Amino acid sequence: MPEVLLKNQELAAYYLQRFREQPTGHFIQGEWLVPINAVTFDNLTPIDNTSLGQVVAGTIADADQACAAAQVAFPAWRDLAGSERRKILHKFADLLVARAEEIALVESSDCGQPLRFMKQAALRGAENFRFFADKAAEAKDGLALMQAEHTNFTVRSPLGPVAVITPWNTPFMLATWKIAPALAAGCTIVHKPAEFSPLSAALLAEISQQAGIPAGVWNMVNGFGESVGKRLTEHPAIKAVAFVGETVTGSYIMAQAAPTLKRLHLELGGKNPVLVFADADFERALDAVVFMIYSLNGQRCTSSSRLLIQESIRERFLAALSERVKHLKVGHPLDPATEVGPLIHSSHLQKVLSYMEAARAEGARIAVGGERLTGLGAGNYVQPTLFTEANNQMKIAREEIFGPVLTAISFQDEAEAIRLANDSPYGLAAYAWTENQGRAMRLAHQLEAGMVWINSENNRNLPSPFGGVKMSGIGRDGGDYSFEFYMETKNVCLAHGTHHVPVLGR
Ligand code: NAD
Repeated sequence: MPEVLLKNQELAAYYLQRFREQPTGHFIQGEWLVPINAVTFDNLTPIDNTSLGQVVAGTIADADQACAAAQVAFPAWRDLAGSERRKILHKFADLLVARAEEIALVESSDCGQPLRFMKQAALRGAENFRFFADKAAEAKDGLALMQAEHTNFTVRSPLGPVAVITPWNTPFMLATWKIAPALAAGCTIVHKPAEFSPLSAALLAEISQQAGIPAGVWNMVNGFGESVGKRLTEHPAIKAVAFVGETVTGSYIMAQAAPTLKRLHLELGGKNPVLVFADADFERALDAVVFMIYSLNGQRCTSSSRLLIQESIRERFLAALSERVKHLKVGHPLDPATEVGPLIHSSHLQKVLSYMEAARAEGARIAVGGERLTGLGAGNYVQPTLFTEANNQMKIAREEIFGPVLTAISFQDEAEAIRLANDSPYGLAAYAWTENQGRAMRLAHQLEAGMVWINSENNRNLPSPFGGVKMSGIGRDGGDYSFEFYMETKNVCLAHGTHHVPVLGR
């Protein structure tokens, strides 16, 4: 075993000890809470399926308590000067950086994502907070809209308490992405992390307290989606739900939130195409194709899980791709050399393996992988897999597998490439590789996706809008788009005193 892995394991054990010693509870009104008679569940690590400790399965009453705390804390947080919120949120970012090692090791152990990607998690989370902290003071600003005899101006005010419901794939990053703009806008939050990966949410709540975020502004409730999650989407005090997760859950949430008319931002699943044309920069396209499906264990909403490859370079590209996939280093997530770690849960491993069966049954070729990976202990390891000779009607081309599994389909020309790319229920991201500028522009306009990257892997720019179309979601994150979601716009109309007021009944 490499020495650096041993050292990381020791350090991780040290940081995880606290979670083993007592159940991880809720954080409500600035206090840690393990309710009397609380039911708990085992939080299993994907590395070997042993328990990292007990976590409280919250109840409706726990969710209600958190919502009430967020409601009570709201007016004071809303009325705090933006410059003050800015200071507090920067302090929070400083603390994330100071605890970066702990965050990375806990996150990797909890969700199986390789440390090589998670070691930047805290820094990226801090960037998210700093970006929105710097905008806190201007979040309320609106427009001046002139008429001849009236002046209209708009102001924005925070919506109120909001629920943030996050998934297990990159829990820390996604939570910071949602919570930072909500707090900067002046909303208070109740966060419900995914039951498969709750630990970084507990660290975040703890750090919120250290940073001086007032009690009740940041609340966190652990538990299951069907109980706690559902209650948050129904609670009358909650004004909006920022949700990241599966498409089917998103549609449940829409129904659950309908009676209280909540504003919803839904970031859902994807089956994102990457189009590689014969005129692409072959090596750069190859690097990006490999990176965008096999990094983060393929458990990434923006992963390019459908490769559309032009027929004239198909053989050469797939040969080079197969070599890369065969050489991906699967292993312990705390080993810095590891490129692909274990999948989140044994049930998810079974789901991913079921697509290997589907590929065989549908007549695709399994060019690389296709099996569970044994020999690495009792973890949820799967071989990085490449399906070729597939078509766009197969299950492996239509459904989100959410693992290190790529489906390759060939096309003849641009028109066919666009048709195949758009023939999907999803529309989160699309990637295209071509050196032809005119084609790049045509693709940018014609691909049905919330985000199109041309000659690039997923490059995140915080002011840019992030989100999907079709079954991939509703709403956008990023820059002012986030404030539009977490804030209400009010128009104020002031008369200059000169206009004619209609007269009735005189
Ligand atoms: P999931 O939908 O099963 O769970 C997400 C969260 O919703 C969890 O916290 C869960 O407890 C909660 N939940 C479940 N049922 C609920 C209900 N009825 N009411 C309220 N909350 C409920 O998703 P997952 O399996 O944890 O995550 C993987 C999915 O997330 C994939 O589909 C992936 O594409 C998607 N995702 C999307 C984006 C994006 O930006 N579009 C980003 C990351 C992940």
